[in-house]
Amino acid sequence: MAYVITDLCAGVCEGECVDSCPTDAIDGPLDLQVLLGGGPAADALRKSGVQLYINPDDCIDCGACVAVCPTQAIVHEDDLSPSQERFRGINAAFYGLEA
Ligand code: SF4
Ligand code: SF4
Repeated sequence: MAYVITDLCAGVCEGECVDSCPTDAIDGPLDLQVLLGGGPAADALRKSGVQLYINPDDCIDCGACVAVCPTQAIVHEDDLSPSQERFRGINAAFYGLEA
């Protein structure tokens, strides 16, 4: 079982969830060092509309990332709404996996 990041992260993400994860299961199509560094460079990344994704093979279902997410973007795969369901596959696909 795994958690899934939905599009509520897109354009907002400041990466709070990254350091909360004990298995380094969260990554994305951007430079996390720049994102976590803050300032204008991180702002520019966010404005590009990117979001982060959870690797379902590495997620241990601990829920730690949920507690730090300011946008409720992280949802357990069992609790995805119909409109959020597609993000199960989108998260897995980022890591070259099938949901
Ligand atoms: S639920 Fe736990 S293991 Fe899974 S991505 Fe979040 S912090 Fe990492
Ligand atoms: S804490 Fe939430 S909004 Fe911030 S990067 Fe993580 S999933 Fe995205």
